[in-house]
Amino acid sequence: SLDMLQQIRNLKRAAACDYLTGLFNRRYFFDRGPRQIGIGQRESIPCSIAILDIDHFKKLNDTYGHEIGDRVLIAVAHKLENLLDGSPHLLSRLGGEEFGILMTGLDSAAGTDYCDWLRHELSRVRIVADDEDLTITVSIGVSGIEGDETFDNHLNAADQFLYMAKHQGRNRAYSDALMAASVSAAE
Ligand code: GH3
Ligand code: MG
Ligand code: MG
Repeated sequence: SLDMLQQIRNLKRAAACDYLTGLFNRRYFFDRGPRQIGIGQRESIPCSIAILDIDHFKKLNDTYGHEIGDRVLIAVAHKLENLLDGSPHLLSRLGGEEFGILMTGLDSAAGTDYCDWLRHELSRVRIVADDEDLTITVSIGVSGIEGDETFDNHLNAADQFLYMAKHQGRNRAYSDALMAASVSAAE
């Protein structure tokens, strides 16, 4: 019956979405991501992948409580959704305070610039908590999609650059493109 089809559709949507933010979830990202990369490679469209992580989020939870933490996650998710609206990029909540972005049409250098813009816009978001206006910063690791790597490996590469962004002081994007630029500047 029509009701049954509608129910199946609702279940499929629920299975693809993160309950807190309404963004696509990790499962959907891992299902859709490799297909998106495949299309890009067949059509010679550059792609890059990013992991975005909120800085010092544990401290925010400890200071303001888990509920405010949840509100911050929702605010960040909705801002990202707005910023990416109309773009071909795939956004998801990977888990916790981490978001994945698969960027289509942007190589690592362009993807790094794009993520730096996201980072800047997110730093301007104000979240009202008690009588305070909270702000957050994020760190982002970006990796160009090149070669026949698994999706997992691409994501791991982005995670390595995220680690370096954290290590360099947070509130920044770091990538293979930036690393290559700093190596050639030193030569
Ligand atoms: P860093 O700058 O290195 O990223 O530090 P961090 O504190 O952000 O990183 P860490 O991984 O230590 O802490 C992440 C915190 O996110 C810990 C966990 O309690 C919190 N968290 C994970 N999922 C949720 C959630 O759904 N809601 C809330 N409120 N907190 C969450
Ligand atoms: Mg984290
Ligand atoms: Mg964090």
